[in-house]
Amino acid sequence: RIISAAPISSHEEAAERALRPKLLEEYVGQEKAREQLEIFIQAARGRSESLDHVLLFGPPGLGKTTLAHIIAREMGVNLRQTSGPVLERPGDLAALLTNLEPHDVLFIDEIHRLSPVVEEILYPALEDFQLDIMIGEGPAARSVKLDLPPFTLVGATTRAGMLTNPLRDRFGIVARLEFYTHGELKQIVARSARLMNVELSDDGAVEVAKRSRGTPRIANRLLRRVRDFAEVKADGKVTRDVADAALFMLDVDKAGLDMMDRKLLQAVLEKFGGGPVGVENLAAAIGEERDTIEDVLEPYLIQQGYLMRTPRGRVATQIAYLHFGLAVPSKNPN
Ligand code: ADP
Repeated sequence: RIISAAPISSHEEAAERALRPKLLEEYVGQEKAREQLEIFIQAARGRSESLDHVLLFGPPGLGKTTLAHIIAREMGVNLRQTSGPVLERPGDLAALLTNLEPHDVLFIDEIHRLSPVVEEILYPALEDFQLDIMIGEGPAARSVKLDLPPFTLVGATTRAGMLTNPLRDRFGIVARLEFYTHGELKQIVARSARLMNVELSDDGAVEVAKRSRGTPRIANRLLRRVRDFAEVKADGKVTRDVADAALFMLDVDKAGLDMMDRKLLQAVLEKFGGGPVGVENLAAAIGEERDTIEDVLEPYLIQQGYLMRTPRGRVATQIAYLHFGLAVPSKNPN
């Protein structure tokens, strides 16, 4: 599977870690986010303060975790990593917070999935660096206030709209990550190839970049598979033709859409007459979770103009019809 919300194996996780840029200047693209962070990090360092809390949002694989690590490194502090669903009870968060050193970064991935009781104790921690927790149960229960060291929360989410307002309001720095251009992905693929000792031609890098759904995680994933192909079927060198043949084998089409993308679009086109179709019906038709459709599949298809989100549901555009060589119905207003 080419598209996924997270690394697909522990092997891939290790491979990703090895390719992760460590400094802001190595981080390709995302000009706006990078520029903001550069200024705020420099200012915070100059004043010897902790960096304001940072919210990063955008589809999976665009570099949110990478950026969290870079922030910690640029600030010269430790990073502690956790995720929304892992923090089940207030005590889980309290344990993490009370172990932080001054100015440390706490990275919470999937922060929109924090339970309300955990979110509740996060507010005063973010605002006043104070922890307010209940210890014990029943008549013996008492509330304890603890001072925390100043720290920086870096929260990541695929959809900023899923955050509660009070939580969103507590982030001083909010950065939205965008899909990468072909040029940026080419740079990322070329850098990865160097680190992996893969011989990659210029046009080979362009081919992989063009078919990576605007996403560095996918670009690196495709590069690893294309390398395997090159080693077995060619002389190890990744050229445009080798990349093309490998990607064809992996079912990634010329436009960079994979099987899941095509399944979704074809369902809209063929089962639902081009739409509008509600996301629940679509999920049932293609056997995918609604969240996967909304977080992982749709954002890129919408950005590329294959699909539109309307109040009545998803609608296929002309571009979608043309992609599958279908005649655009004359009643299609899109
Ligand atoms: P997210 O947390 O948004 O799902 P990650 O930070 O885990 O994404 O990024 C996935 C992979 O993509 C990382 O291993 C990293 O090597 C690569 N990557 C992401 N963003 C960049 C970037 N701007 N420049 C270079 N490589 C990147």
